[in-house]
Amino acid sequence: MLATDDALLRDGVLARERRALAKTITLIESTRDDHQVHARAVLGALLPHTGRSLRIGITGVPGVGKSTFIEAFGLQLIEQGSRVAVLAVDPTSSLSGGSILGDKTRMEHLSTHASAFVRPSPAGGALGGVAARTREAMLACEAAGFDIVIVETVGVGQSETAVAGMTDVFVLLQLPNAGDELQSMKKGVVELADIVVINKADIDARAAESARGNAANALMMLRPSSPHWSPPVLLASALTGAGIDALWRKIDEYRTAMQAHGEFDAKRKRQALAWMWQIIDESLRGRFRAHARVQQELTKIAAAVASGETSASAAAARLLALYATDEPAR
Ligand code: GDP
Repeated sequence: MLATDDALLRDGVLARERRALAKTITLIESTRDDHQVHARAVLGALLPHTGRSLRIGITGVPGVGKSTFIEAFGLQLIEQGSRVAVLAVDPTSSLSGGSILGDKTRMEHLSTHASAFVRPSPAGGALGGVAARTREAMLACEAAGFDIVIVETVGVGQSETAVAGMTDVFVLLQLPNAGDELQSMKKGVVELADIVVINKADIDARAAESARGNAANALMMLRPSSPHWSPPVLLASALTGAGIDALWRKIDEYRTAMQAHGEFDAKRKRQALAWMWQIIDESLRGRFRAHARVQQELTKIAAAVASGETSASAAAARLLALYATDEPAR
């Protein structure tokens, strides 16, 4: 049985009320234990109504044009009759307290459109927490009837992996400057991409074309993640709108190819299981660290490992044994 407030939120989200959706996401993002209890209850009630959206991940370095691009792309999708939600995973918000993606003036037209819902990244907390909350916010948006959920992330580190792990198709935006594709190669982001887009192609067509060639060559060196898809490289301009519809056609092609081979659902199942294990790992680690006997011994044993007196494996075995002896079987 849901508490009255939770039932109201569930009904509001299902009735596509923005206020109810925003309040639900605020609960999801809250670090207060009592809020988390309500968030879980509401999410549980919404879960049967999720899973019907297309989940698109978009990444790229700051300045590549993500927000300009998503604004143009989102408005086009709305014109075609879709409802579009945009969420963000921003690792910089947890480091600096401020946020590269949180800037209110981003996506000015999209964020005020009746068929769109734009939510900046939750501030604070470790990336794992921010990513988990974004994933849950995505489910709430799906229950609120958004056909397309775009999850945006800044290309600076582990956040791309987190976003690729929660979306159906992952799009990498690149700048047309020589050398940039190599930068991303190093970070392994290209490996995650299902589609690469060279943005700002309006500035210098030749440079853009040569960047496209370089990126295509880089992609050819990688093993494709599916035998049924080779990631294409597109040229676009978020500023003029050129190439935006071509991206949508590619995304549709990708979805059709994956669905034809059962890979679309298989990927979602893998993602859901990976998420479950991540939650288990994190909560076990939290319980381990909070365990009284472990806490008593941890500093001493950690110092012994640091000084070379005890091996890491012996120390881990000792601490895990302390944890296991007192842990009641559940
Ligand atoms: P983000 O940091 O990746 O979100 O990048 P923004 O969307 O804020 O864009 C950074 C700057 O690049 C802004 O001044 C945009 O107007 C500009 N910009 C974005 N896309 C294009 C494009 O396709 N062509 C040109 N010429 N400028 C662009």
